[in-house]
Amino acid sequence: MNIFEEDKEFIAGTYNRFPVAIVSGKGSLLTDIDGKNYIDMGAGIAVNSFGAADEKWQEAVIQQIKKVQHTSNLYYSEPPARLAHMLCDRTGMKKVFFSNSGAEANECAFKVARKYAADRKGPEYFNIITLKNSFHGRTLTCLSATGQEHYHELFQPLTPGFLHAEANNLDDVKNLIANNKTAAVMIECVQGEGGVVALDADYVKALADFVKANDILLVVDEVQTGNGRSGKLYSYMNFDIQPDVVSTAKGLAGGLPIGATLLGEKVQNVLGAGDNGSTFGGNLVSCAAGVSILERIDENLLSEVRAKSKFLFDEFSNSEGIEAVTGMGLMIGLKTTKPASEVVKKCIEKGVLCLTAKDRIRLLPALNIPMELLEKAAKIIKECCK
Ligand SMILES: *Cc1c(COP(=O)(O)O)cnc(C)c1O
Repeated sequence: MNIFEEDKEFIAGTYNRFPVAIVSGKGSLLTDIDGKNYIDMGAGIAVNSFGAADEKWQEAVIQQIKKVQHTSNLYYSEPPARLAHMLCDRTGMKKVFFSNSGAEANECAFKVARKYAADRKGPEYFNIITLKNSFHGRTLTCLSATGQEHYHELFQPLTPGFLHAEANNLDDVKNLIANNKTAAVMIECVQGEGGVVALDADYVKALADFVKANDILLVVDEVQTGNGRSGKLYSYMNFDIQPDVVSTAKGLAGGLPIGATLLGEKVQNVLGAGDNGSTFGGNLVSCAAGVSILERIDENLLSEVRAKSKFLFDEFSNSEGIEAVTGMGLMIGLKTTKPASEVVKKCIEKGVLCLTAKDRIRLLPALNIPMELLEKAAKIIKECCK
């Protein structure tokens, strides 16, 4: 059996894969089973922050694997403590809960919000408001939080207590809060799976001020937007707000599974012993990788991300077959005249791997993609959009 046959026969059919089998890579270049090279404009869906098989990242992982790979949360160990310390120093948050994925990071955020509200106001303050067109993950509760009907249809009943407000409409959130006892509001500053659309800056600021005045928690889902992707360490830093809870995952460990829920001043002591847990959470190899990634997302790298972002916005604006360029940092959406899936197929033929989000092309290259590859990829993508 070849890879394609074996996969189709034995792996659950939850993914529509492209007919490409990647076997190796170096930075932003990937090689498939036939030896064909691709410029990688997806980075494993914003996961490989410094591309494939990055040497510094490998070194951090190998060093930790040689010492011990996992100890459980029954004992103290350095990599998770170190990573949590770095995350708090760079965000002003106070404590971190580690898990293994974005969905779990969000699950922890929901638990924190409900417990905080129950302790302060009463258990009937359980509602959590998210935005329409949002995406918060695949567990039943995260699906409940996700503000897109088509994700809900097949899996009823979902977790109760999630309400969806129209994005960029403050009155809609205010109405929901007036009519429902609310624990928290959760947003993505740039909706990723929803089509790579940044929320209006005025709206985000006004929303943050409003919930703060009402002692309702502000949760920011930074699973996709976080860890340098937006041109700041976390996307909320572009909006002059301070969230109470931040969830992150994807790029934090540069290609290994990790989830992190960052807890601000108000909620730092909400979770006590036994209130949450995860066997793999704080895994030593993932956290050692996370430390090495976070060390390298410095002001220098972030300004490069912003410069590359500007380059892509300039390239794609007013280009034939591209009707809109959206997003922030190295998280870019292209509304194309041709169907996005058709453009992606053409790009694959020409050696560029892109993603889609809804009806858009979505680009999430490694934060350190060399300018020369970025220029080459942009040229090919523009060609394929015509
Ligand atoms: C990918 C994503 C998730 C889910 O993360 P998993 O690691 O797949 O569980 C949640 N929220 C946002 C905004 C995401 O982009």
